[in-house]
Amino acid sequence: MFLDLAGQRCVVLGDGHLAQEKVRLLVEAGADVKVIAAQDYRPGDLAGARLVIDASEDLEVNRQAWEEAEAAGILINVLDRPAQCRFIAPAIVRRDPVVVAISTSGESPFLASQLRVRIERWLGREWGPFTALVGRIRRRLREAGVPIAEQTRIYRRLLQSDVRRLLANGQTAEAQLLAATIGQARSRPAGRVALGGAGPGDPGLLTLRARELIADADYVLHDALVAPETLALCGPDAHLEPVGKRGGSSESAAQDAINARLIELAGEGHLVVRLKGGDPFVFGRGGEELQVLVQAGIEVIAVPGVTSALAAPAAAGIPATLRGVSSSIAIATAQRSDSLDRLADLARAADTLVVMMARTNLADVAETLARALGDSRPAAIVSNATLAGQRQVSGPIADIARLADLEGIEAPATLIVGDVVTAIPAAAALQAAQTL
Ligand code: SAH
Repeated sequence: MFLDLAGQRCVVLGDGHLAQEKVRLLVEAGADVKVIAAQDYRPGDLAGARLVIDASEDLEVNRQAWEEAEAAGILINVLDRPAQCRFIAPAIVRRDPVVVAISTSGESPFLASQLRVRIERWLGREWGPFTALVGRIRRRLREAGVPIAEQTRIYRRLLQSDVRRLLANGQTAEAQLLAATIGQARSRPAGRVALGGAGPGDPGLLTLRARELIADADYVLHDALVAPETLALCGPDAHLEPVGKRGGSSESAAQDAINARLIELAGEGHLVVRLKGGDPFVFGRGGEELQVLVQAGIEVIAVPGVTSALAAPAAAGIPATLRGVSSSIAIATAQRSDSLDRLADLARAADTLVVMMARTNLADVAETLARALGDSRPAAIVSNATLAGQRQVSGPIADIARLADLEGIEAPATLIVGDVVTAIPAAAALQAAQTL
């Protein structure tokens, strides 16, 4: 419940630091504030007040003020005495006209204020002017008798649009113009497709941008590799469509179907997020989808992600580059057998070689690399990096396939080859312990 205290008589008992803080907040709310020092309070002083905050920190004053307020039906809050509070003042985040109130029901004011700070960081200042703008549009739509369903569609479009970003950048005039266009009841703004990366698995490694987009999206077309915990961050109204591809001859047909679906949904005016594991443009077919969408004249937003090519070694405590050990990285795939020779060339050229889709052909890949680099070149294979099921094993390249079988390493797995694997031996153990 929010109280409108404008012009209302409010009494603050006490004149210490806490009392002053309460006075400040009440004055901000437009209240008519009367301050009574603890030693000056006499029963009867509260007459005519709407609300009382007793910050006197004096037990006798507390008792008398509580009795007087209760008898007179005045709302009272005695600081730090939950049993003598008819109301509690929540921690608040203001983005006028938006007000967020946080209460721990008196359990922990400390945590309430910590939560306030977190929400403050997250809820950008632009939410104030954005809400005011939406409010103006809402009044217009209501006056024009626009049906609720149509209104909701417009609010959703406003939320998904660049209006907030423009406001955050201080481009108020542009924001207002865009909002006004979307606010036309008959306008049908074009849809957009965000080609986004979900990171290697842990939802904590999703970018802020990707997280915002999946929260706002109408449709999320996601790969099989995207973790359920990440999909749980999608908005409650988002339609989730799994479009995972599983090798084989139907691959290009599946890709055509995805392309067609993206074009169809964007054509209907939706905000569509095409969510891929890692980074969308690292062995993710993001490039092909980008090409098709651009050709179809659809607006595309590219949202980079944390690629598992770099996250897998990092999560296993293996630095991809290291001063004096490795100053270059090659990222390749083991998927096609015709590329094995190229893999050997890359391994010779770069200090660190990262091989993705490494599990199926691991024996062939390792054999080729052992021939090119020598049997003892250090290697590690990491599966399900950054997820609860992360597993890794390291050893000489000539042994790595056998070790992977022994350890039950499964896809998705990434192979790392180079001296960086053994450069910091304790780090790998440390990381492994953290994931247990
Ligand atoms: N676009 C993705 C890669 C897609 S190809 C990215 O940038 O990460 C799929 C391959 O990525 C898998 O075969 C595996 O080599 C790697 N991969 C994806 N997730 C992984 C994870 N959690 N741990 C280790 N490797 C992973």
